[in-house]
Amino acid sequence: MLAQAITLAESLRTEDQILANQLIEELLPLTGKSIRIGITGVPGVGKSTFIESFGKLLTTHSKKIAVLAVDPSSAKTKGSILGDKTRMEELSKDPLAFIRPTATGNTLGGVADRTREAILLCEAAGYEVMIIETVGVGQSETAVRNMVDFFLLLMLAGAGDELQGIKKGIMEMADGVVITKADGENFKKANQAQADFQHALHLFSDSDSGWKPKVITSSALEKRGINETWKLIQDYLTLTKGNGFFEKNRDQQNLVWFQESIQLLLRQQLSKSKELKQKIQTLESDILGKKILPSRAANQIINDFFKA
Ligand code: GDP
Repeated sequence: MLAQAITLAESLRTEDQILANQLIEELLPLTGKSIRIGITGVPGVGKSTFIESFGKLLTTHSKKIAVLAVDPSSAKTKGSILGDKTRMEELSKDPLAFIRPTATGNTLGGVADRTREAILLCEAAGYEVMIIETVGVGQSETAVRNMVDFFLLLMLAGAGDELQGIKKGIMEMADGVVITKADGENFKKANQAQADFQHALHLFSDSDSGWKPKVITSSALEKRGINETWKLIQDYLTLTKGNGFFEKNRDQQNLVWFQESIQLLLRQQLSKSKELKQKIQTLESDILGKKILPSRAANQIINDFFKA
């Protein structure tokens, strides 16, 4: 039923969206009680292996866990790098776990349109820990950051400097960093990386939460660093629930959701009008022909839209 409700929420049909909104509004009193954790990292860093161990740790403690994946690739390729059925094999068989491998890549609204609704639906179904997984390749991080309480970045020791450079923006969003695959030959490198990253994180300005991001090394294979990560998240929750940041952050996220929804609905409405679509095409060629300033062209569209 949960899977069906999420499918309904992800549907682009207006009738489905009305139904889904009705459903979620009725369920609202049952939502909000989970811990929402975002997990990101480049493909191959070990996300699914980590989430599997982390999830098993939680279900062993009788906690219900749901994993949602936000996959920016699915919009373009219609396939999904996260959709591989063999991922998280054990966790997916666990009756306390719910795994939703792909978010539909809805081109109009970006990668994470309906993930918030999916979170609420899982919460209403009684899931206590939500994991929102995304691939560390761009704007999906910011989107996910805006819908979770704790943002965890998975990194490899000894990846090239260029890569770490790209990651700087994402590192600034992280509440915790896990250096993965800290086993075998990698063990020493991982410890060195831990010290380096911890140092780098100190250079960022203090966040509003009063929390200082921490770096942990882990080996999902040897089951190390998994307990520590859970403990780290607990510490974060104790601090931010104590100082009021937790609630404030969720309120702020709701306002961002509201703003984003306005923009999304406007875009959807704009794309529904055939006339406007044609006008947009004409203006696009005018822009390419250097006949009109892009901002002025946008103005014309908005004026036409509100006149109609
Ligand atoms: P994802 O693409 O980020 O989800 O990465 P995966 O979890 O699929 O892992 C990619 C590869 O790294 C797989 O071959 C895993 O077996 C391997 N891997 C994952 N975690 C560890 C670990 O802790 N130690 C070692 N040595 N290998 C790991």
